[in-house]
Amino acid sequence: MFIDTHTHLYLEDFEEDRDAMVSRAVDAGVQRMYLPNVDVETISSLKALWESYPEQMYPMMGLHPCSVTANADADLERIIFELETGTYYAVGEIGLDFYWDKTWIQEQERAFKRQTEWAIVHDLPIVIHSRDAMDRLLEILEDYRGSGVRGVFHCFTGTLPQGMAAIDLGFKLGIGGVVTFKNSTLPQVLPELGLQHLVLETDAPYLAPVPYRGKRNESSYIPVIAHKLAEVLGLPLEEIERVTTKNAMELFHVAN
Ligand SMILES: [Zn+2]
Repeated sequence: MFIDTHTHLYLEDFEEDRDAMVSRAVDAGVQRMYLPNVDVETISSLKALWESYPEQMYPMMGLHPCSVTANADADLERIIFELETGTYYAVGEIGLDFYWDKTWIQEQERAFKRQTEWAIVHDLPIVIHSRDAMDRLLEILEDYRGSGVRGVFHCFTGTLPQGMAAIDLGFKLGIGGVVTFKNSTLPQVLPELGLQHLVLETDAPYLAPVPYRGKRNESSYIPVIAHKLAEVLGLPLEEIERVTTKNAMELFHVAN
């Protein structure tokens, strides 16, 4: 069994063929899919998908940094209300994005800290989105060292020192389609970091692996990513499947 630790299957991109797509994923051995939230607008479709597939879908709840704007305080109230009243497996996705728009950097940091602190108090992992912000996130997380903070850096594309620092803080690294890209530095970095710290993800509908690069991504492509990881690490595919699944189960279900 494979686990897709990060997939947005509730988005409109899958409106036409969502059921067929979920079947393709299950047929490919991807039996659990963890759904990160984006913002207040996506809550109802995320919950609807979970209700349709309670065995396969594992919902998470958070406010994405790209959705942090002037409305952040009200949006966070809504997100925290969901967390307090629902069943969620992680707080996510949350983080910092310095790539798209720097207008709301301070609000992004405030939202990240608030949601991280909620996760610590409620003993849930956090799912981190980082774009051009890895060093700042590591700096912030250093302040929470020893608090029980844990989680995953989703779509990890960092350097070896950044990966080691994240692992040292109690984090796993989410590996997706980027590992199959020709210009990716992950094939050099990952053998040094080790399989015991890695989980698989698609980030569907984004970042489809080669040979689907540029097209819509979906959870049934997880084995394509696992194949590439097996090649990069020089390990059998079965071991990639077994260890990344065990890592994902620990990440979402076992407290430190
Ligand atoms: Zn995402």
